[in-house]
Amino acid sequence: MPMKDTNKIEIKLDIAKVLKNIINKEEQYTIPIFIPHKGCPNDCVFCNQRKISGHQEDVSLKEVDETIEKYLIYFSNSKCKKIQIAFFGGSFTGLDIKSQVAYLKIANRYIKEGTVDSIRISTRPDYISPTILQILKKYNVKNIELGVQSMDDSVLQISKRGHNAKAVVRASLLIRHYGFELGHQMMIGLPESDVNKELYTIQSLLKLHPKELRIYPVYVIYPSQLYDWYEQKKYIPLTLEETIDRTYSVVKECVTTNIKIIRMGLQATDEITESNKALVGPICDNFAEYVMAKMVVIEIENRIKEKLEKDKINQIIIEAPFKYASIVVGPKKINKEYLMSKYKEYDMKLKLKGEK
Ligand code: SF4
Repeated sequence: MPMKDTNKIEIKLDIAKVLKNIINKEEQYTIPIFIPHKGCPNDCVFCNQRKISGHQEDVSLKEVDETIEKYLIYFSNSKCKKIQIAFFGGSFTGLDIKSQVAYLKIANRYIKEGTVDSIRISTRPDYISPTILQILKKYNVKNIELGVQSMDDSVLQISKRGHNAKAVVRASLLIRHYGFELGHQMMIGLPESDVNKELYTIQSLLKLHPKELRIYPVYVIYPSQLYDWYEQKKYIPLTLEETIDRTYSVVKECVTTNIKIIRMGLQATDEITESNKALVGPICDNFAEYVMAKMVVIEIENRIKEKLEKDKINQIIIEAPFKYASIVVGPKKINKEYLMSKYKEYDMKLKLKGEK
């Protein structure tokens, strides 16, 4: 049978749908307040909290106030976005109650004035109790993020987290019971972890109905127990490629839910950049873009496969909105080059159209 002369396929990509868990973010500005290791008597093998937060001293109340004021001035020209104060860095509810209340009172003052909309804290699962939650409620905390890292007890144990998976379940249920928005943080590449344990982690977390998820690759920071293990060859960091693949597997589990993935990758603070010589692992500033590019290329290939099974094709045209060009083409053009080479017999064209 002769081939039809219009045997080309056009695939229109709905990137917003493919990446719905990642790019569907609430329009919100964050005022980050880093509360370093303070409050945390634990020593997780991967952690050097002082380096990550960029401080070695306690954060004074005056500093908190000044930081908030500074950001409010910075945000004052932008319209319509909500503003949230976020206490990151350590385990907020591990602080003595007096300090927690003092920090929260400052943040809550801005809510009462109407200049800030909400407060977020991050903490450990074993530092959640009804008493703590009542205090957080009183001062208008909205989001509570739990550093879960893994739901596999053997991984938690070797990582010296000091809590087990049951503590995560208990804390998550309590947080939701008290009406807070629950967030989870998990890590990719912890010692003795693997893709199956990470899949088990995300599947267990999704059963707890978190609203938000952060996914952090393990970086080996000096000084830390993990760095010693790395030097002794007891721990081998993942490659960037392995980390992208494993993160992709986790993200894929989320697509049937409404969870928001609010971060993938660890932000390189100035301190980390300065100590780069003592930082190893899958370090990548645009890590999230790599994972999103992978999601998009897999969607493209699935769509191509579907069409090729049905018809004889001699040209493939992929169309996507221009504003997602960097994700569709991929960092360092990985998607573009891969597709052009794999489907070269189909005269592949990538059309990026519309709003920039
Ligand atoms: S609980 Fe958090 S702050 Fe404390 S050692 Fe572990 S990772 Fe670091």
